[in-house]
Amino acid sequence: MIRTYIKDGFKKKGKVELKGWVHDIRDLSKIKFLILKDISGRIQCIVLPKESGEEIFKQVSKINRESVVRVVGELQDSKQAIGGKELLIKELEVISEAEQPLPIDVSDHSKTELPKRLDYRFLDLHRPKSQAIFKIESTMMQAYREFMIKEGGIEAVFPSIIGSSSEGGTELFPLKYFEKKAFLSQSCQLYKQMLACSMEKVFTIFCVWRAEKHNTVRHLNEARQLDYEECFADEFKVMDVLARCVQYIVKKIMDERGEELELLDVKLKVPDVKYMTFADCTKLMKKEKVHMGKDDLSTEAEKRLGELYPDTIVFVHDWPLAGKPFYIMPKGDGLSGGFDAIYNGVEISSGGQRVHIPDLLIKRLKEKGLNPKDFKGYIDSFRYGAPEHAGWGVGLERLMTQILGIANIREVTLFPRDRDRLGP
Ligand code: ATP
Ligand code: MG
Repeated sequence: MIRTYIKDGFKKKGKVELKGWVHDIRDLSKIKFLILKDISGRIQCIVLPKESGEEIFKQVSKINRESVVRVVGELQDSKQAIGGKELLIKELEVISEAEQPLPIDVSDHSKTELPKRLDYRFLDLHRPKSQAIFKIESTMMQAYREFMIKEGGIEAVFPSIIGSSSEGGTELFPLKYFEKKAFLSQSCQLYKQMLACSMEKVFTIFCVWRAEKHNTVRHLNEARQLDYEECFADEFKVMDVLARCVQYIVKKIMDERGEELELLDVKLKVPDVKYMTFADCTKLMKKEKVHMGKDDLSTEAEKRLGELYPDTIVFVHDWPLAGKPFYIMPKGDGLSGGFDAIYNGVEISSGGQRVHIPDLLIKRLKEKGLNPKDFKGYIDSFRYGAPEHAGWGVGLERLMTQILGIANIREVTLFPRDRDRLGP
């Protein structure tokens, strides 16, 4: 027999074979229920001594929750069962027994704390809520690719091992690379820029490593970024791309992941877009009596922007040059072509127009106390015909937490890496 997914079973009649995990067994002495789940859904299966056979009737009570089984039976209408159908079991095979007791409560009757769930992530993924999160994440990545390809973008992959710091920060993980010293990449910034200067519009989903010592609910030491870079573009052009991209992603999740959103009790809205200068944002925060960073937004300021403009992508642009990396284009008056995007109270992205002029790049590196010699290859890449260009990077897990309203970024990361966690 060919295995049927539970969801498809609801549309079928007659005899089917289902495979999945035992969510629950209910023993009512004369009738027994086995609640079976697979990635597509859940179905009530019934076991009766006569119709299913005495042997199966006895066997079913002994099966541990979360064990993997194969059942063959007759689909029949049922007024009580969820979805209006149940399966009368005729054959039952235990494919893989789950040991007892389970280290975490998969049924959510009692709450297991997140760190413990992460220790047993493989089992945590038996939980429909965890599955819902990662189904949505899959849709997010698909939506990102779809949007970018429609936009004319070319998908690229970049190296993760680098010979010197890409941004001049100190938060790098060093690596022994034969006789040389190397690092894990903290961003694909320099590579996507080099590529955009010939391929025009490029995008990638890139893994970044940041040796930030703080352990917050918004930071991981290994995170993924949705990156975009476009040439013949300034920051306003790419802010517009970012806004439409996030709107496209949210719309697709709403269209295709309704069940999962309902399970997570999330009501989504395609976000609005708002633009404001850093100076105006500073004034606003003064009025709101919220502390604002000098050349950066404070955590509280981001939070207040989320309260003032819910379900809105707020672009704060004309950012002070002092608060942006050396590769962001200066604009005069101490301002830059850099921006941040805040969504529901947290930064989801930084971006801006880049410096594509070698002499200016050298000047900016020196001003930041960096040695242009360390960036020779990068600077030289703009010497042979490099147009102006701009781009951004969105944290994949950050975007997930902000769309779903989930507080801890580890919840939306399959196998998080943080200060304390290196496994599973
Ligand atoms: P933050 O100020 O929030 O620490 P950042 O300005 O250091 O972030 P960028 O270098 O601008 O981060 O990275 C681009 C995006 O990648 C951020 O807007 C955020 O969405 C995401 N991101 C950055 N660092 C992390 C991290 N440690 N964990 C998860 N996501 C991150
Ligand atoms: Mg940033």
